[in-house]
Amino acid sequence: MARCRCKYRRENIYEIEKELDKETLDNIVKIFGDKIDCDQEAEKGKEYCIFHDPDAWLERPEELRKKIFEKIKKDENNKNSVNLIGYHFPEIFFKNQTFRKNMLFTLAKFHGPINFSDAKFFGNAYFSGIKFSKYAYFINVTFNFADFTRSSFEDAAHFKANENSKDSCLLFYLVYFKRPQHVSIMGWSLSQMSFLMTDVFGTLIVPSSPVDKILDERLFEELNFKNIRGKDKLAIRGLKAHLTDEAVLAEYRNIRKALENNRMFNEASNLFIREMKLLRRKLCFQKNPLELLSHYVYYFISRYGESVERPITLLLMLIFGSSLTLSYLLTGTFEFRYVEAIFAVCFQVRSFSDFDFLTEVPLWIEVLIRLFSIMFLGNLFVALKRRLERR
Ligand SMILES: [Zn+2]
Repeated sequence: MARCRCKYRRENIYEIEKELDKETLDNIVKIFGDKIDCDQEAEKGKEYCIFHDPDAWLERPEELRKKIFEKIKKDENNKNSVNLIGYHFPEIFFKNQTFRKNMLFTLAKFHGPINFSDAKFFGNAYFSGIKFSKYAYFINVTFNFADFTRSSFEDAAHFKANENSKDSCLLFYLVYFKRPQHVSIMGWSLSQMSFLMTDVFGTLIVPSSPVDKILDERLFEELNFKNIRGKDKLAIRGLKAHLTDEAVLAEYRNIRKALENNRMFNEASNLFIREMKLLRRKLCFQKNPLELLSHYVYYFISRYGESVERPITLLLMLIFGSSLTLSYLLTGTFEFRYVEAIFAVCFQVRSFSDFDFLTEVPLWIEVLIRLFSIMFLGNLFVALKRRLERR
């Protein structure tokens, strides 16, 4: 009897991959098309080939491992991508392996632990829709573009960038970390990583460089551009459906909380400022003029309560500026008693009427000085409180 073709094909994918939702599968079918259709023959008396057979990884792991390595070698020599879509993997180590072509691990099931430490992916690595049942190590890994969209990590997962591959693009979009306290992602820049709609609280994220715009904010701005190229184009293709300003704002908040949780306050503070700037951009001058104005004032005085230096500088400028001006206008020279008087007024312990040399000054000037000093002192209080509470 002639053997049948393996059942793992596009028309059956919704039935086979029941754990995943239709939207995810639609997107994967759209991206990978006929690459999903398995070209292997089914095993004797079975519906699937050895790679797609849900039991082979348990019954014949050694044989399966050998065949997987052979398949990788064969595809690397003959095709422009290595197709492992939907494969069931036993425990397998790819340590030190170099992958020269695009690697399609999409929809794979890693039943055992996997180790990609010191591996080099020179092409793109697709790990979307994958279930990592045991630990997954990607230590000192070199990525170009790696997509982990809608994957789930049931156990520990550690990612660390190779020294020479820090500008790679990593998508952790809609990813589920079951044990976030056992997850670390280190060495890549946040401007090259997406955590859109992924809960990262409890994970350890150590970004490589000071935080600028996160990847998704940049991609969101690029959405309407026509000539998006390279990794950005690949990233947008997957993220487009959920790339909104609300989602980006939530992502900022989410990453910031994770950083604060790990006591990385400088990075968290930079993210907070970016988050507020994004919020400010959403405000419309016609609808919320006062809110918009207070955003600008708050940023100017203390960078949204994150700078202690700014309100102190502004307060000193207010004290010396106004006392110098008043002193020159009233006496034609500089007298130190004006500094002492304005200092006391700024700290709200005296008023102009307490000093006989200031009684001629109009009331509105005193009101203005008091108002500014209250604003600077208030901001200083907020910034100090935030800084001390974090320590
Ligand atoms: Zn198959």
